[in-house]
Amino acid sequence: MACFDAAAQYSRSRIQFDRPIGGFQLVQAKLADMLTEITKAQLLCIQLGRLKEKGSVKPEQISLAKRNNCEIALDIAREARDLLGANGITAEYPVMRHMCNLESVKTYEGTHNIHTLVLGEAVTGIAAYR
Ligand SMILES: Cc1cc2nc3c(=O)[nH]c(=O)nc-3n(C[C@H](O)[C@H](O)[C@H](O)COP(=O)(O)OP(=O)(O)OC[C@H]3O[C@@H](n4cnc5c(N)ncnc54)[C@H](O)[C@@H]3O)c2cc1C
Repeated sequence: MACFDAAAQYSRSRIQFDRPIGGFQLVQAKLADMLTEITKAQLLCIQLGRLKEKGSVKPEQISLAKRNNCEIALDIAREARDLLGANGITAEYPVMRHMCNLESVKTYEGTHNIHTLVLGEAVTGIAAYR
């Protein structure tokens, strides 16, 4: 969300050619995709919270959310980095810091691979790992 905010704000202020870059369709498409994915990830978390409060949440549902949300957060951080151009790699903006942090989150929240296998087992009934 912080990366999206930084990218949205930057797109309104960075002028290239005759307008802020937020006035170009390709930039708006990226921001629309980011907003959509953030909203979907938030809804996933809200629903998981509801299931947890009811005491009915399943481990594979948690894997589904962690797998999706960590991957999507990293994708969004990378897109935001791209939208900030060269400024995106500087410490002046928070994007690169979040991107590096998310690289470790993708491992320490349970690796993407293992969450994939947990889901694969839930769907097929066959564990592909020990
Ligand atoms: C910043 C940070 C903080 C952490 N904090 C904690 C903490 O507080 N508590 C805690 O318990 N742990 C913590 N960890 C450890 C973290 O849970 C492990 O790093 C993580 O589970 C992966 O284990 P590993 O590093 O041994 O990698 P490995 O298990 O060696 O995996 C290496 C790669 O191989 C893949 N892989 C492994 N087995 C399979 C398989 N069967 N099939 C397909 N692919 C496979 C993995 O997905 C990964 O891509 C932390 C890690 C980091 C980086």
